[in-house]
Amino acid sequence: MQFHKVKKDPLELRTIFITHYDSDHILGIVPIVRALSKKEVGTHKVNLFCSKVVKEAVDSLFHLVARRHYAEAKKHLNLVIVGDRDVHKVDGWKLQFFDVKSNNSPQMGCVITFPDGTKLSFLGDEPLREHYTDLVKDCDVLIHNAFCLDTEQKIFEPHPKNHSTMKEAAENAAKINAKKLVVFHTEDKTLDTRKKRYLKEGKGHFSGEIFVPLDLDWFRF
Ligand SMILES: [Zn+2]
Repeated sequence: MQFHKVKKDPLELRTIFITHYDSDHILGIVPIVRALSKKEVGTHKVNLFCSKVVKEAVDSLFHLVARRHYAEAKKHLNLVIVGDRDVHKVDGWKLQFFDVKSNNSPQMGCVITFPDGTKLSFLGDEPLREHYTDLVKDCDVLIHNAFCLDTEQKIFEPHPKNHSTMKEAAENAAKINAKKLVVFHTEDKTLDTRKKRYLKEGKGHFSGEIFVPLDLDWFRF
């Protein structure tokens, strides 16, 4: 649906990373598999990086919902199982994965280093943790969850879900010396005022550029 809105074809995707198997992270693969199962795909291949448990969840999902589509799509999927601190190269990008050691569903994050040296650190939907800070620090772009404003914790309760507030995301960006902060995984009850209010709270705790996206926004870096 979102691909449709921006007139993009899911087949333009080259590489997909699924962090963990919670429904808000795994179900996006369904329309992509359907697109990859079409005859006109030709020799197109898409890399899919995920942990062993996520691969098992994807297999189980398609065993139930779209078995024939999945069998066909698998011919076009280069499925790579990743473990803690594994490094892979794709089109000149260096990808390093790490286990966030979640106490919820097992979850991976990743660091991408582009050919020009630009470094992007993505922590999944949980807060920064000490044990992988060596990998993610000094990045050009940090992608950190910001589930709600710090001042609205009572309404949205981010911490029982292992999520962060905007203030915490900004503090973490400063702590690891990130140049820019992109937040995601945000509650959708305050969309009209999201950009303005989240930016205001974040700016009090991080002096670099902060990007608070709405769906389909673009961020160039
Ligand atoms: Zn999530």
